[in-house]
Amino acid sequence: MAYYGDEEESQDYLFKIVLIGDSAVGKSNLLARFARNEFYPNSKSTIGVEFQTQKMDIDGREIKAQIWDTAGQERFRAVTSAYYRGAVGALVVYDISRRQTFDSVGRWLNELHTHSDMNVVTILVGNKTDLEEAREVSTAEGKLLAEAQGLFFMETSALDSSNVKAAFETVVKEIYDILRRKVF
Ligand code: GDP
Ligand code: MG
Repeated sequence: MAYYGDEEESQDYLFKIVLIGDSAVGKSNLLARFARNEFYPNSKSTIGVEFQTQKMDIDGREIKAQIWDTAGQERFRAVTSAYYRGAVGALVVYDISRRQTFDSVGRWLNELHTHSDMNVVTILVGNKTDLEEAREVSTAEGKLLAEAQGLFFMETSALDSSNVKAAFETVVKEIYDILRRKVF
């Protein structure tokens, strides 16, 4: 029994997670906030890194989340299939203060499902809740869409940090739980 446990302990978990959504919704800043606790007030495509590996503690186990960020190519609707390849999790991000970015969610989901496994664990993320006075998409609308599409849902702010960690953790924890159910 001890051996079994030891073997299990030594397993290395690395989950590829992709950030998608329209340009300027805050994808890079969600990652910067989550991985480095940083925020960039001005949009700079140069902050876009290919991916960032973040160690996380899920149920006392160390899991590495390899989080992929676009380097601005979503502006040209040119996110390649390589970006999606092997992804087991996705954050589909819109900006609660720009309805147009919410209207694009369906297109991003289609693209995700075209290029990756149907079972990719996905959370719909309404970012920029600090801009409450400029809100164009209600929380109820976000929730409804998420329910209809079978997605997790959370509203976040990369600026004031609210729910950023929780959004990434929700995805990683679900992937881990699915894996455990398959293994045991
Ligand atoms: P991306 O194109 O989706 O990667 O978006 P960025 O992370 O580059 O952010 C685009 C712009 O929105 C930048 O000026 C950010 O400072 C700003 N931004 C990102 N997240 C938030 C947020 O939660 N609240 C506010 N007020 N601005 C944000
Ligand atoms: Mg970006």
